[in-house]
Amino acid sequence: MRALVLFFLVALITPVFSQPAERPRIVVGIMVDQMRQEYLYRYWDKLGDHGFKRLVNQGFTLHNAHFNYAPTVTGPGHASVYTGTTPAIHGIIENSWFDKVTGKGAYCAGDDAQQTVGSETTSVGKMSPHRMLTTTITDELKIATQKRSKVIGISFKDRGSVLPAGHLADGAYWYDGNTGRFVTSTYYMSKLPAWAEKFNGLNLPDKYLSGTWNTLLPIDQYTESGPDVSPYEGKLGENKSTFPYDLKELRKTNGNFNLLSQTPFANDYLTEFFKAVIDGEKMGSGKDTDFLAISYSAPDIIGHRVSPQSVEVQDVYMRLDKNIEDLLKKLDQTVGAGNYLVFLTTDHGVAEVPQFLVDSKAPAGYIRSSQLGAELKELLNQYFPGREVIRSVSGDQIFLNHEAFNTDPRAGGVELMLATEIISNFLMQQKGIANVFTRHQLRMGDFNEGGIKGMAIRGYHPKRSGDLIVVLEPGWFESSRIQGTTHGSPYTYDTHAPIIFFGKGIKHGSSVQYHTITDIAPTLSMLLKIKFPNGCTGQPIGELFEK
Ligand SMILES: [Zn+2]
Repeated sequence: MRALVLFFLVALITPVFSQPAERPRIVVGIMVDQMRQEYLYRYWDKLGDHGFKRLVNQGFTLHNAHFNYAPTVTGPGHASVYTGTTPAIHGIIENSWFDKVTGKGAYCAGDDAQQTVGSETTSVGKMSPHRMLTTTITDELKIATQKRSKVIGISFKDRGSVLPAGHLADGAYWYDGNTGRFVTSTYYMSKLPAWAEKFNGLNLPDKYLSGTWNTLLPIDQYTESGPDVSPYEGKLGENKSTFPYDLKELRKTNGNFNLLSQTPFANDYLTEFFKAVIDGEKMGSGKDTDFLAISYSAPDIIGHRVSPQSVEVQDVYMRLDKNIEDLLKKLDQTVGAGNYLVFLTTDHGVAEVPQFLVDSKAPAGYIRSSQLGAELKELLNQYFPGREVIRSVSGDQIFLNHEAFNTDPRAGGVELMLATEIISNFLMQQKGIANVFTRHQLRMGDFNEGGIKGMAIRGYHPKRSGDLIVVLEPGWFESSRIQGTTHGSPYTYDTHAPIIFFGKGIKHGSSVQYHTITDIAPTLSMLLKIKFPNGCTGQPIGELFEK
């Protein structure tokens, strides 16, 4: 009987796991910076058949995937997708944070030991993934193939390229807004490859910025968005938040080549660069699987300025749809349809403009941090006269000045606790603040805890994070102006993310089961039959493997 059961078990398992690893020739990871899941539904009727729709109609879509930590911002987002874990473990706790050891600011992809390669702009190339404490799926692919796999990351943002490409990458390239060139750092190489020099020599940004940004379709067809003239949109240059955008004129007052990232043509440029990488590096042509990580930054940069209800954002997605079509076509031509694996996701969602919600009678608001900070300072001075209690505030984190309490080692700990309690009580009395967590609460918390506290725990790195973490009410964020929007909260508008798998080994289908963004990397591990990234806490997406 037991033998019979065993036989059936083996028979059941065999078809999936006994085959030799037939891997795709290349994996392409597409990140769309600041893409809510909802955009896919909202713009669906206006999309073409060969971009997003090709991925959805032939691939596997998760409808209920979320970031499972806060803060939901770019650096942590890219690191979490590629490491399969959260800031608590990979250590990328923010885009920038206060480094408790050095007493200086730390940038998630910054590395002063490196130099720029590919342009004269010295600061843009001082980058590497050294602050990321775990391996990425891209690292594991390199390790699995004795480093024969080629791994490259590309993006307009350095962090959108450096973090996904991982520690063992062959290259990572990003945009230098001062020169319009793609650059890299000495972490990867000492000079640009000839193909990249040739690409930079085309000077395409000059061409993009000589024209006009007008809507792809007649503007009255953008019925999924609000009016183009809106009080909630930030302006570009002097006084511009409506179509058409005369880029030739606007580049004069918007940092010349820097303006490109405020237009959808940044996505065109990155897609052209994608093709140059495929050809230049012969990606997908070797025996071992290669990995090209691409992250489209312009939807975020534009989204911050004009918000999710704008015609601009819709137009960005209409055009990005064409970029994705173009990218897939390039893979069809070079690697062959059915030979490559693609996934598409984001690094975070985005909030509505709070003032738009308030004007629509929905709950929302703004925290004015300068005013709050001044009141708090005055209060703390009553308890600890003359002492600098708060060392730094970055993002939603407050770092206390531990030195100020260390004069007497026995009393120091008590005073620090007292200060933490005073700050926490003060903040909890403020409108718009939903909760304040102390470092003690978060360190003692369970990694798998639910609710908002669990989101904070998974976003909290014991050695790097602050002494207090502030959580605002849904719909609220910190700002002194009512134009534009942001992200970073633990709420669904920032956490609900598209995840689509497409191509080799992927069946057509969809799921509404809850998944986290950290499930992407272990799913890729299963598909590629390689190790999980070493800090991975996510789980493979089971529905993808069900027969
Ligand atoms: Zn952003």
